Amino acid sequence: MLVTGGSSGIGQAIAIKMAEYGADVAINFRSNRAEAEATEQSIAWCRNQVQQHGGQDLLIQADVSKKEDVERMFEEVIAAWGTVDFLINNAGIQIAADSHMLDVEKFIQVININTVGAFRCAQRAIQHWLAQEKPGVIINVSSVHQIIPKPRFVGYSVSKGGMQNLTRTLALEYAGHNIRVNGIGPGATITPINRAWVDDPEKRAQVESHIPMRRAGEAEEMAEAAAFLCSDLAAYITGQTLFIDGGLTLYADFETAWSSE
Ligand code: NAD
Repeated sequence: MLVTGGSSGIGQAIAIKMAEYGADVAINFRSNRAEAEATEQSIAWCRNQVQQHGGQDLLIQADVSKKEDVERMFEEVIAAWGTVDFLINNAGIQIAADSHMLDVEKFIQVININTVGAFRCAQRAIQHWLAQEKPGVIINVSSVHQIIPKPRFVGYSVSKGGMQNLTRTLALEYAGHNIRVNGIGPGATITPINRAWVDDPEKRAQVESHIPMRRAGEAEEMAEAAAFLCSDLAAYITGQTLFIDGGLTLYADFETAWSSE
């Protein structure tokens, strides 16, 4: 299996969980000079965990928003293993700014990584499965913001909204080839993308007060859901997004009636 953005957070947890369930794991990472050291450490840790569970690992540097990188990444995985059974489209970024002030290039950058990058990888995986006449599974790591608007993060909201129809359209188009495409929709999860609040007790309490279950999610909880959707237990499930969010998509403001009494 191949997981994009697998060197941290939810991607790393999925890599380790899938190894626990017996998969060999290709861990994609994008590393620039500034990120390199931290990435190296987290990859070493992730690799070690994968190997402890008996899985083989491959480490592949690639920027999913770049066509030639995605091509090379798939060539490397297929050259090593002859196939790739599962693709986890996990790589993602978010950029905050008032929408009326947002540099449109930044908007495009988010869409290019979160949505176009996921499509590039999905397309390459599907080409491979069709050529081999093999089944395959894609999991798109989306977000509660697939359906909940996120002011000041318009690129992110649009990218994840797009992911819903990426999941549904590919699922319908390739269901007859036994290629399943599903999404997971994490709520607020303890990972580096949320460094703005996870290590600040006051900010974290503020975030968690909005969640019906009153706590943020763990990356491992997202990984377990992704592993389920990859497994044969989910053999008849396609085109769905499973939200793992402690109730965040349940219109938390309606927890107590305020409009009818
Ligand atoms: P994270 O920042 O730890 O992980 C994102 C990963 O994507 C990083 O490893 C990063 O290096 C990688 N990445 C970014 N751009 C890339 C590119 N161009 N090519 C390859 N890799 C790239 O944060 P995370 O929370 O683990 O995020 C993983 C996914 O989960 C993202 O798609 C994110 O939108 C989604 N998500 C996270 C949360 C949350 O609360 N943490 C909630 C909903 C959805």
